[in-house]
Amino acid sequence: HAKEKGRNNYQFFSESMDNYLKLRLEMENDLRAALSDDQFEVYYQPQYDAESMAIVGLEALLRWRHPTKGLLTPGYFIEIAESTGLILSIGNWVLMQACCQVRQWQQESGCAYRIAVNLSASQFTQSYLLETVRKTLKESGLLPETLELEITETAMLKDTAETIPLLFSLKKLGVRLAIDDFGTGYSSLSYLKNFPIDTLKIDRTFVEEIVTNSKDCAIAQTIVQLADNLQLCTIAEGVETSEQADVLRKLGCAEFQGFYFSHPLPVSQLSLLLKH
Ligand code: C2E
Ligand code: MG
Ligand code: MG
Ligand code: MG
Repeated sequence: HAKEKGRNNYQFFSESMDNYLKLRLEMENDLRAALSDDQFEVYYQPQYDAESMAIVGLEALLRWRHPTKGLLTPGYFIEIAESTGLILSIGNWVLMQACCQVRQWQQESGCAYRIAVNLSASQFTQSYLLETVRKTLKESGLLPETLELEITETAMLKDTAETIPLLFSLKKLGVRLAIDDFGTGYSSLSYLKNFPIDTLKIDRTFVEEIVTNSKDCAIAQTIVQLADNLQLCTIAEGVETSEQADVLRKLGCAEFQGFYFSHPLPVSQLSLLLKH
């Protein structure tokens, strides 16, 4: 019996593996066509000042309008984009798109909205990132201090001999640098001393149970205090309730981002929101 069962399991495993590989290859091929076929779209999620509740920034979040699968979030394709190298051209596209769009919103409103753009690890380690950012700022006409690049700790610490000079060069251009998902990487805090960082984004996992879990609350508090001591800005991600916002405000967190305030929205809807 055991043998038979084993064989069946193997067969099942092998079939699902086969399906998985097929699906992945399919996604890979689809992804190759997506950029030239104009299937990507940038959504924007507002970031709010904790005191005035005014919109002070926007995070650009990539979406893929897949011809048969519908609107896909990065969870479905970003890893494939990374492993195929397609993330480089997609990432450059997002950067240009977001900078031009926000420049337009800035001009329409007279507000100096900040735009946050996520950088993948491979974008961050490419040697011409600096040139790409410089060119994008020039072509979009965006003021450098209104662009914030979001990088995860893991990406930032991949090769510090390379990344420290790159971070300083980016800083020299005048852009802001944020650490995304702060507190979830396997890193020491010492890099905060040597890296020219402007913002810590408190990861959603600490915000989720901040009202009921005293450990999450203590961690969020520590991040805010650390940021204060180093004169960095803090943004809490994934704020879904007013209670979470209240706790974070009391801790001194500077800015909020999350479904409670607004979901990521397409350009047309965000244009309406900014007019009100
Ligand atoms: P992230 O940079 O940490 O972005 C925040 C994610 O949390 C977004 O997911 C956003 O939709 C989601 N979110 C915002 N508020 C809430 C909330 O209140 N509750 C919950 N549960 N979630 C919330 P999304 O858009 O699916 O993006 C996932 C990740 O994909 C991003 O995480 C980022 O790492 C990556 N990503 C997105 N756009 C790009 C891009 O243009 N380039 C690169 N390299 N990565 C991107
Ligand atoms: Mg981000
Ligand atoms: Mg994040
Ligand atoms: Mg996150």
